[in-house]
Amino acid sequence: MASFTLQGIPVSRGITIGRAHLLRPAAMDVRHYLIGQEQVEDEVSRLSQAIAQVQLDLQSIWSDLPTDAPTELGAFLDVHALILSDPMLSEAPLDIIRTRHYNAEWALVTQVDALSAQFDEIEDDYLRERKADIQQVAERVLKLLTGTAHDLPRAVGVDERNANMIVVAKDISPADMMQFRDAAFTGFVTDEGGTNSHTAIVSRSLGIPAVVGLGNASELIKQDDWLIIDSDAGVVIVAPSPLLIAQYRDQQAILLKAKKKLSKLKKTRAITLDGVEVSLLANIELPEDAHAAMEAGASGVGLFRSEFLFMGRTGAEVVLPSEEEQFLAYRQAVQTMKGKPVTIRTLDVGADKPLDHHEHHILNPALGLRAIRYCLKEPQIFLTQLRAILRASAFGTVHILIPMIAHAFEIDQSLAMLEQAKHSLRADGIEFDDEVKVGAMIEIPAAALSLPMFVKKLDFLSIGTNDLIQYTLSIDRADHEVAHLYNDTHPAILQLLDMTVSAGTKANIPVAICGGMAGDLKLTRLLVAMGFRELSMPAALLPEIKQEILNTHVGQLQSGVKKVLKTYDPRLIQELLQTMRSQVFDVSSQ
Ligand code: PEP
Ligand code: MG
Repeated sequence: MASFTLQGIPVSRGITIGRAHLLRPAAMDVRHYLIGQEQVEDEVSRLSQAIAQVQLDLQSIWSDLPTDAPTELGAFLDVHALILSDPMLSEAPLDIIRTRHYNAEWALVTQVDALSAQFDEIEDDYLRERKADIQQVAERVLKLLTGTAHDLPRAVGVDERNANMIVVAKDISPADMMQFRDAAFTGFVTDEGGTNSHTAIVSRSLGIPAVVGLGNASELIKQDDWLIIDSDAGVVIVAPSPLLIAQYRDQQAILLKAKKKLSKLKKTRAITLDGVEVSLLANIELPEDAHAAMEAGASGVGLFRSEFLFMGRTGAEVVLPSEEEQFLAYRQAVQTMKGKPVTIRTLDVGADKPLDHHEHHILNPALGLRAIRYCLKEPQIFLTQLRAILRASAFGTVHILIPMIAHAFEIDQSLAMLEQAKHSLRADGIEFDDEVKVGAMIEIPAAALSLPMFVKKLDFLSIGTNDLIQYTLSIDRADHEVAHLYNDTHPAILQLLDMTVSAGTKANIPVAICGGMAGDLKLTRLLVAMGFRELSMPAALLPEIKQEILNTHVGQLQSGVKKVLKTYDPRLIQELLQTMRSQVFDVSSQ
């Protein structure tokens, strides 16, 4: 098979090499024709031979698995082999050929459709999802029948036993992505998605190489194809030559070495060459991520996206986590951080993080009932969460962060609800930190343009650049069709950042950045020189950002920053940023 390269949007770091695991197989679009009585047995044997061959293929993949392969890999293959040996797939289509005289492909698809319909009826989520397994197995058989199958691609000279699995899908929802956290996949490739879609964010926090926005990769890439993901370049190489694989393996080794070296900075404080300390915090999605934050040497959690506790609970009815369940989750993160601050963002559902997948279609979800808007409309859900967060505050340092603020009354009402939650805890005799700090996310342009309306009422601000860019530039952050317009150094964005940090400094309250810009090495010098002293990012990115800060001189970058903020010429902004990044500082007088 000829090698080819796909260019997408880089969303994570690193390189991975492995075999494609197609999450949603291509539509089973086959030829339909009736055969004569005399062809029936030939057609039956064509189908049964294909089924037998796929069984052999599955066994061969099994025996290629390394001895230390995670059990999930074997389990997948077991399920597929089991499905294929079941008479519902190995016998029933043969009967269809005999009785209805369908061609083999049509008979198989007919049976799969009938089984799929039965699976749709099943209440049990796990069993219902087995439908995808049936389709995947049937796809393998179809490929053999239609002659589009090839032997399992083997890259000569490559150690087969190192075959990692890479998920290839049209799209993966953030909730589904969470389910891959403990699975054995080492990379993600999707047709859709943008740099800061929540799916991308999760893959970044897992530290897993991923490329999104590839257009039609899930059609071009076939099951078990060898892939290289170079996520820094946003490139996916399909069916690479052994030589190329060897080169990328070398590159992987170099990156690993660099990572090890950086991990030595774990205990080093992020202080610039001229003595300015920057607090580097971690973004987390689930309480267990706090371990990675500690491992990376984070000075705290700057953003706990609490909504991930609420998502992916789509049975027949959505059951939200109880106060106790939430409390235990928040307390786990707080205790893991051992007194370091944990900023828990209140429920930010909606847009690309719907609570309920079956939610009726909303015209403009990103502009709809999201985040604080949703919480104020559902006070009971909000109060339950606030009580759970407050209870966790008795076990360490907790800050509360309110997302999507645009109106003064939203702050007033949120603070009133917090008081109500405190009051009810006092009445129940439950301990909490009465001094818990409350901040707001600045992620709607209106908020950035009316900061005096907020600063007096709040203890801190945190800029969500992902949404700030989405709303300022009017581009859906999850839509790959407009991903090229997602520009974090657009003059409008830089002005809004500057206004926010200046307003915070004037009001004497800290201003953090917890959106994607905080973890972007290209922007570190600019942001620190602009005055940001708290940056919160996926833990995996923290060491390299720290190293950049150690090599930064705030004083000597001031004239560069002034120039960047004065110009409205995008090309000049890029040039100035380049210059800042390569600037060598004179520290002889220090
Ligand atoms: C943001 O919008 O930048 C942010 C940090 O929040 P989220 O990405 O979860 O919307
Ligand atoms: Mg946001």
